Amino acid sequence: MATFALSISHAGPRSFCLRPIRASSNGTGAGVPFSKPKSGGPAIMEIPLDKIRRPLMRTRANDPTKVKELMESIRLIGLQEPIDVLEVEGVYYGFSGCHRYEAHQRLGLPTIRCKVRRGTKETLRHHMR
Ligand code: ADP
Repeated sequence: MATFALSISHAGPRSFCLRPIRASSNGTGAGVPFSKPKSGGPAIMEIPLDKIRRPLMRTRANDPTKVKELMESIRLIGLQEPIDVLEVEGVYYGFSGCHRYEAHQRLGLPTIRCKVRRGTKETLRHHMR
């Protein structure tokens, strides 16, 4: 199983420091160099659950059976597909991956693997519509 790095820092506007862990996955987690994403491309990062804002969470109910099945699976084999996250001015927003996010919460996991794309406030407004 791969090991992912999360370093905590008190410098800067964010209270934690994340570095990309894999730009792509070969399914084994082995032999893939840690690297920054190609400019503009998504980065794969472990992000603390409480650093991901979920503005639409209260408007969409998760299927509890799906969440339970995901909890079992994630407990057994880990998260196989990162959730998509939008980063706008240093703040992370999640609009999808709701069941995986809740499964992590219920399992008491502190972080979740995310595919992070940068966006503007306009991108954010588009997602909020
Ligand atoms: P979500 O709201 O999180 O997208 P869905 O039920 O719509 O929930 O989809 C579950 C997703 O979780 C699928 O894309 C599946 O590939 C992915 N996934 C990631 N890790 C696992 C895992 N360990 N077991 C089952 N599905 C997983």
